[in-house]
Amino acid sequence: MIFSGSTSNISTLVHELGHTFHSYVMRDLPVFNQRYAMNVAETASTFAELVVLNATIENAVFDAEKINLIDEKLSRSVAFMMNIHARYIFERNLYDERQQGTLNSSRLKELMTEAQKEAYQDALRSYHPMFWATKLHFHITGVPFYNFPYTFGYFFSLGIYNRFLEDDSLSEDDYVSLLRDTASMTTEDLAKKNLNVDLSKTDF
Ligand SMILES: [Zn+2]
Repeated sequence: MIFSGSTSNISTLVHELGHTFHSYVMRDLPVFNQRYAMNVAETASTFAELVVLNATIENAVFDAEKINLIDEKLSRSVAFMMNIHARYIFERNLYDERQQGTLNSSRLKELMTEAQKEAYQDALRSYHPMFWATKLHFHITGVPFYNFPYTFGYFFSLGIYNRFLEDDSLSEDDYVSLLRDTASMTTEDLAKKNLNVDLSKTDF
């Protein structure tokens, strides 16, 4: 991967390391029990980002360094809740319109801009109408909605992280067990079993 030592480069590296950890802890399971569903595909990766980011903020020596890292943390929330959300809105509207016929590039640009305006609540000065052409995930036709896993993973990993902070009886083994269940249980069930939380309730 491209690596020049910036904070966001480190986040990307850690993100991919999270994927690696997810696959690694499942390596001895039967092959069909290693193929986890898309909804949990970005949980280990976003969890790894959070662990490393919080640790680097805590260990930052200089104020400027700490401010930069906190900015990175806030930017993550914007990325997961607005940028990724815009992709979801775009794709949902695309599938709706596609049922009536094909869409040309002008219409795709309009849909992209409308989706970004909605997701960012009209807060930006300019938008990116060609984003649909530049983002790989829209073109992986076998995996529609390859944006939802990021938002889900962001919220789920925040919840997992907080469960570990509030409950001393949870250990790394519980996290590993949770990841090992991702290809054989529903997300609600694996959260109940390994974290003792109910995903259908808003308090989590
Ligand atoms: Zn990822």
